[in-house]
Amino acid sequence: MPAQVIPGNEIAQRIRGQVASEAQALAAGQHTVKLVAVQVGTHPSSAVYVKAQERACSKAGFAYELLTLPSDAGEPEIRGALSRLNADPAVTGIILQLPLPSGIDVRKVQAVIDPRKDVEGVHPANMGTIVYGRPVLAPCTALAVMECFAYTGVDPRGKEVVMVGHSDIVGKPVALLFLDRFATVTVCHIGTSERGHLEEHVRNAEVLIVAVGKANLIPGFWVREGAIVIDVGINRVGDTIVGDVEYAQARERASFITPVPGGVGAVTTAILLRNLVTAARLQSETTC
Ligand code: NDP
Repeated sequence: MPAQVIPGNEIAQRIRGQVASEAQALAAGQHTVKLVAVQVGTHPSSAVYVKAQERACSKAGFAYELLTLPSDAGEPEIRGALSRLNADPAVTGIILQLPLPSGIDVRKVQAVIDPRKDVEGVHPANMGTIVYGRPVLAPCTALAVMECFAYTGVDPRGKEVVMVGHSDIVGKPVALLFLDRFATVTVCHIGTSERGHLEEHVRNAEVLIVAVGKANLIPGFWVREGAIVIDVGINRVGDTIVGDVEYAQARERASFITPVPGGVGAVTTAILLRNLVTAARLQSETTC
């Protein structure tokens, strides 16, 4: 029997509903919510994200501003802009749009953002809370993966979870979030593939999460019978968008699978809004 499709759009809708009621409570307490995205120069790749952020904020009734710094802005200028946003009580959340110009140390600059306004969960303090098992503002995509998994109703305790990809915003936090729920977690990356060991790990996965960015990297026949497959990858192939897992074949073997598009990506934007209201709550608690 083909896998049940995990409906990203439906999950996102539910999260947006929760956000809307929290937003009402905030509005009743005279708290306005505003997201500011900082971008350095203009990039066609980030234009899509910026549009999506703006649309999501406007639908949720939140203010949105895009602050564009000149493409030759250096580290002091970027740090200065972030510090001003940190100090501005009208700003609830800050996103630092990547990529930054070459030569700028991304982690150093991200660390300037006030952790209570860090709606993307990239500040070292927020990353640290994941290690301690008490995430507050965690990376949106990692939380979106956990929401997609939660839809299955499966208890991850003792399950063989295989995370392919070890980026800071997806692979590493997802691995830690599953570890915290007592799953047996294996993290695969380029080194795993180079030694030709990726297939054996994938075949063992009861829960398979893939975040690499290579179309159809995982052939469907590698997927274990009954596995839960969460595909984070977004790859343009001709006129279509596909994930990192060969969908049609994988669906025949899996018990649950996320589609691309309409899976993790749809949930990620809703989580950004949820992080934004969490940030508003954190700030109102510390200013009262
Ligand atoms: P990164 O490029 O930061 O990370 C990719 C990871 O894949 C790295 O850990 C890399 O290892 C690993 N990798 C590369 N090649 C292989 C291989 N052949 N076998 C195993 N591992 C490999 O990407 P992101 O984590 O930011 O994004 C991954 C994908 O998810 C992209 O398609 C991106 O578009 C998508 N994405 C989707 C989002 C959503 O909301 N749905 C949000 C964010 C990203 P190493 O670094 O060692 O080379």
